[in-house]
Amino acid sequence: MRLLLHACCGPCSLEPTRLLRAAGHDLTILYANSNIAPAEEYARRLSTLQTWASDENLPVIEGPYNPAAWEACAGRVGEAANDPERRRARCRACYRLRLEETARLAAAEGFDGIGTTLSVSPYQYTDVIREELNRAAAAAGIQAIFEDFRPFYDEATRRSRSLGMYRQNYCGCRFSDAEAAAERAERKATRAAAREAERAAHADELAAAEAERQARRAERAAYDAKQAKKRAILKALREQQTSEDH
Ligand code: SF4
Repeated sequence: MRLLLHACCGPCSLEPTRLLRAAGHDLTILYANSNIAPAEEYARRLSTLQTWASDENLPVIEGPYNPAAWEACAGRVGEAANDPERRRARCRACYRLRLEETARLAAAEGFDGIGTTLSVSPYQYTDVIREELNRAAAAAGIQAIFEDFRPFYDEATRRSRSLGMYRQNYCGCRFSDAEAAAERAERKATRAAAREAERAAHADELAAAEAERQARRAERAAYDAKQAKKRAILKALREQQTSEDH
């Protein structure tokens, strides 16, 4: 099948392209990501993708970069650090914009179907990606090739590191940078709290062991004192017996 594969970045493209090619698809990549801010970040991800794809003989089309269009849909939902439902709604609007663009272009250019690399990330809403991919493809009258690529995320991470690829640490939009930083800080705090709890639990164990040692020492000292007293009494009796014999 001639497949137009929406790609969010280079690292996320590694495993989906390998698997889709192995399944026999003829791939063209579409970089359609008006969500990414700032523009320098958008350009850096695109350039990373293009450099790798050219080594792989994979054609890359750059879609429209229209941050105003993104602001008019997903951007209106806004910041959603502490509100999972709000964030889900924002990400849905963001997927919809990008996948509708992919489907429209695919239909216009005679592709048989569309796919996306978004589902390689465990930080995305896989079920929503699937729904939006199917919805966009159906509206354009083409096929949706959805696959949950999350089991290959670790391998994608390993390969992208070994290739020295640029790896961003946030999803893309202006909200996700701060949200990802807050999540990293939260994970760090959780790990620190777990280490402290472990240290405290260990301290309790050490204190209990020391108390047991002290109790054994006191028991031993009491026994020794009792034995010494017995020996002193016996000695006194023996001395008394000796003086009576004389
Ligand atoms: S977090 Fe990612 S998927 Fe969600 S709105 Fe931002 S860029 Fe889009």
